[in-house]
Amino acid sequence: MDNELRLQYLEAMGIDVWLPRISVPDSPSLQSETIIDSIAFSPSTDKWSQLKAEVAGCQKCALCTTRRNTVFGSGNQEADWMIVGEGPGQHEDEQGLPFVGNAGGLLTEMLRSIGLTREEVYIANIIKCRPPNNRDPHTEEIENCSDYLYRQHQLIKPKIILALGRIAAQTLLKTNDPLAKLRGKVHTFNNTPVIVVYHPAYLLRFLPEKGKAWLDLSYALKTFTKIEGSLCGD
Ligand code: URA
Repeated sequence: MDNELRLQYLEAMGIDVWLPRISVPDSPSLQSETIIDSIAFSPSTDKWSQLKAEVAGCQKCALCTTRRNTVFGSGNQEADWMIVGEGPGQHEDEQGLPFVGNAGGLLTEMLRSIGLTREEVYIANIIKCRPPNNRDPHTEEIENCSDYLYRQHQLIKPKIILALGRIAAQTLLKTNDPLAKLRGKVHTFNNTPVIVVYHPAYLLRFLPEKGKAWLDLSYALKTFTKIEGSLCGD
């Protein structure tokens, strides 16, 4: 394959390519060397690609028979903030991206209210395939999928997690406590602080609850600022 074209493909797949130095003035003996065909994979690029491929081909539960696309996650792979939702809906299933429907629009606004953009956070879901008719995910589906989210979390190493809604909160925190009891506290998931926030889809249905969501987001920002402060003071 034409070298230029090959480099374009690799770049489009997010694979770092180390180009050989074509001219090395102080080493005349190297100047005539042919181009070295070396491609370097960083360990974390490798792990992300492996994980994405596993999710894309996942057949651990029956949701693989009804999904159009798996929804892996999107955003900054080195984000300070990880946002965890429940699972894909119709639009997410169609596009293979998280939070692209109406709830996604509100999530973008919620993030903006605390000074964040979607590009700087990482957004993922508890389950990677859409349950038919948007029913709640079953326990076995959540269990089958949980390893993917744990590995995403390990790779991102966020400083804080926002759990959106009951299913995300109860799954991450391994509890059956209702959302009302989980709000307004700092929990942890594998040593990362977790703040529980109302799910944007719920807020779209119950607009008066938006005020409470604002309190949750402010609390999350305050917690993050404290974490940053304590890290800087080390
Ligand atoms: N609701 C979720 O929990 N996740 C999405 O990706 C979309 C809607």
